[in-house]
Amino acid sequence: MKLKSFLELSTYGLKTILFKNTKPILATIILTDACNLTCKHCAVNNINKIIHPYKEIKEEMIRLYKEGIRILFFCGGETLLWEDEGKNAKDLIIEAKEIGFELVNIVTNGTIDLDIKEADVIFLSIDGNKENHNYIRGNTFDTIMQNVDKANNSNICVYTAINNKNYKDIKELCELVKNTKNLSSISFNFHTPYEGTESLTLTKEQKIEAVTTIKSLIKEGYPIFNLYSSLDYYLENNWSRPCKQCIVIENKKQFVCGRCVEIEGLCEECGYLFAVEFSLLFRGNPRIIYDMLKTYLKFV
Ligand code: SF4
Ligand code: SF4
Repeated sequence: MKLKSFLELSTYGLKTILFKNTKPILATIILTDACNLTCKHCAVNNINKIIHPYKEIKEEMIRLYKEGIRILFFCGGETLLWEDEGKNAKDLIIEAKEIGFELVNIVTNGTIDLDIKEADVIFLSIDGNKENHNYIRGNTFDTIMQNVDKANNSNICVYTAINNKNYKDIKELCELVKNTKNLSSISFNFHTPYEGTESLTLTKEQKIEAVTTIKSLIKEGYPIFNLYSSLDYYLENNWSRPCKQCIVIENKKQFVCGRCVEIEGLCEECGYLFAVEFSLLFRGNPRIIYDMLKTYLKFV
């Protein structure tokens, strides 16, 4: 993150806290729900297989910027399958920067391409060591690591959803990130039990073990992009949701926090640590503010 962006976003955060502002700052645009994988924990792939039109996405970007959004994510399905009117996801990132967004990130399963220097951060899904990742995401681990190796940039943050299959792989993944050229950091979420994926849900004991491991690895200095104290709030399930400062746009429909907001009872079992962190941050939680400054400044 550039220092200028960090300062601008910090100012926004300060205003939000002081004036109890609930205006969104972060938006995710879903480019398509089409995907080349069928991961075991996924509830959103290939439902309609829609590639959303470029014109609509561009209009959304302009509207979101005017409404004060400064952090933009592009997401899928598999985001890099998106193409329309001769444009691809890289073109959208460039156009988003031209519009003025401070941070433009992309989420991908890494099977297509990871040489996306236009993005501030590429969030790359890896869900465990090779065996567990392949169990959850199909036989893709080697392809992904080859694509990591071929990338000409190191703006890749591994994005891991912890579940009861892979929760013992946390240290191995942190080692992988530390020792792999082009992998800069790792960010964890916990499995959110969408209908049909309940079998991957962690027990309370497994959650405690995973949180304890992540916290000790943060202390040891591994490049973990989660806020230390948010893990305690996650475990206690003691945070206010949905997070009003985050929105998701899919097919012209806008959701507060995530698309999952409309699924009855799911927010109570939310494992998305970004929602925990942003929700607490913008309520002025002092531990979270301190951890955010400490963590984010490492990556500026
Ligand atoms: S890559 Fe993402 S969208 Fe595709 S099936 Fe896996 S989790 Fe779902
Ligand atoms: S709180 Fe969690 S489950 Fe609910 S909408 Fe937000 S991200 Fe989804």
